[in-house]
Amino acid sequence: MANTIKNYINGQYENPINSNWLDNYDPSNGEIYGKTPNSSKEDVEQAYLSAQSAFEQWSQTTLEERSRILLKISEGIESQLDALAEAESKDNGKPISLAKSIDIPRAASNFRFFANAITQFASESHESVGQNAINFTLRQPIGVVGCISPWNLPLYLFTWKIAPAIAAGNCVVAKPSEVTPMTAYMLGEICNKAGLPKGVLNIVHGLGTTTGQAIIEHPNIKAISFTGGTATGAHIARTAAPMFKKLSLELGGKNPNIIFADCDYDAMLRNTIHSSFANQGQICLCGSRIFVEKSIYEKFKNDFVEKVKQLKVGHPAKADTDIGALVSKPHLEKVLDYINIAKQENGTILCGGNRITVNGHENGYYLEPTVIEVPNEHCRVNQEEIFGPVVTIMPFGTEDEVLQMANKVKYGLSATLWTNDLNRTMRMSNQIQAGIVWINTWLMRDLRTPFGGVKASGVGREGGFEALRFFTEPKNVCIKFK
Ligand code: NDP
Repeated sequence: MANTIKNYINGQYENPINSNWLDNYDPSNGEIYGKTPNSSKEDVEQAYLSAQSAFEQWSQTTLEERSRILLKISEGIESQLDALAEAESKDNGKPISLAKSIDIPRAASNFRFFANAITQFASESHESVGQNAINFTLRQPIGVVGCISPWNLPLYLFTWKIAPAIAAGNCVVAKPSEVTPMTAYMLGEICNKAGLPKGVLNIVHGLGTTTGQAIIEHPNIKAISFTGGTATGAHIARTAAPMFKKLSLELGGKNPNIIFADCDYDAMLRNTIHSSFANQGQICLCGSRIFVEKSIYEKFKNDFVEKVKQLKVGHPAKADTDIGALVSKPHLEKVLDYINIAKQENGTILCGGNRITVNGHENGYYLEPTVIEVPNEHCRVNQEEIFGPVVTIMPFGTEDEVLQMANKVKYGLSATLWTNDLNRTMRMSNQIQAGIVWINTWLMRDLRTPFGGVKASGVGREGGFEALRFFTEPKNVCIKFK
């Protein structure tokens, strides 16, 4: 079968040892279009052994050489932009325009960024004045590390972990989501062409509960970088803690988008459409709770709903599609369940709320972009992560009131503020419980900045030198001299 995905171990494509396969679905039409390994513990062990045997040499490879290879991988991704974007769009259901402009370019940037960052990464020294001693910190690679990523931004998030891990001299056992394995599969060949030594990167495909589980409970995989749901993150933490693994957990979000009357209204409206519905709302950073100052609430409500109704839901491969298909049938059903919960909780569906049929693709997982006016901030649709094209809106009176409502969720990933009052910007940025605060913008990313959340949105930070710190062990060396 043309679309048979294989594991990438020791630089070779391999079938799963147990010959077990999973179906791979095309969300745009609900059809099976390929198969992917349902890898077992034995495959993970092979991947581990391959990584382990590559480690000694890779960890001693000069920074210049590592950087050169990472840059080549970046160029390899860029040279296959169209093929990778098509594969990502087909596997995930996202509009091809988004895959081409965001997902794949960002995967290339991840490698380019860490190729450069590793050459600038420095460690500290401390002179113990008056004691004739100097301390310095060695930053050593950890060994074999595990990288596990979700389906929403497949290659983008997969490479966000792999690039710093290998730049820092580690060898990797990585697992993409089994729902979207295709671009991770294609990455293997790109790495081979770029001259990445065999075994530095190993990719095993399969279910989280089997393949992923084998990675997190492997006694010699010393660190896990995970992006995914909060419940999975808690399970990984429980499993890894007794083995004292290093953990970076990037988890769910329920991010507030707070709109004050003094904002630049047109820019806010334009951006709020994106922050609500980009990638079918399946971005952990989407502003899924919209709070609007009372004086402009009715105007915003009318303008926003009118714009949302104009969004074109369609086949992901069409150039004019704004909203493609949701990633899977179970996910579509979960999002529809939340729309029903909203109705039971006296929410008002201002637009959307229904599954859509796209001509010629009747079994695809399409959903209208949905805006729900909620009666209070406590209701479930305002508290729980839906992760689909669904936002809630409600008015607020004062800054204090909206701050309380914004913070009253278990999550703390990101927040967006729309205001031109600099003092308010500072007051609120200080007090909002989130790892990232955007003022008058959304999803503007500089890869040097720390990325991650607080509360149930995760532990640790990735991005820039934070990622290189995560993927290295600091060792203090103290020298006494005469
Ligand atoms: P999941 O937590 O279900 O899965 C994430 C990854 O973990 C997948 O590769 C999955 O495998 C794997 N996995 C599942 N169970 C285990 C296990 N027991 N051991 C090891 N690995 C396991 O999340 P989704 O894929 O559904 O992604 C959506 C979630 O990701 C949302 O909550 C979203 O907010 C969050 N997310 C967070 C981001 C952040 O940066 N904070 C960014 C993007 C998304 P498989 O899929 O094959 O079962």
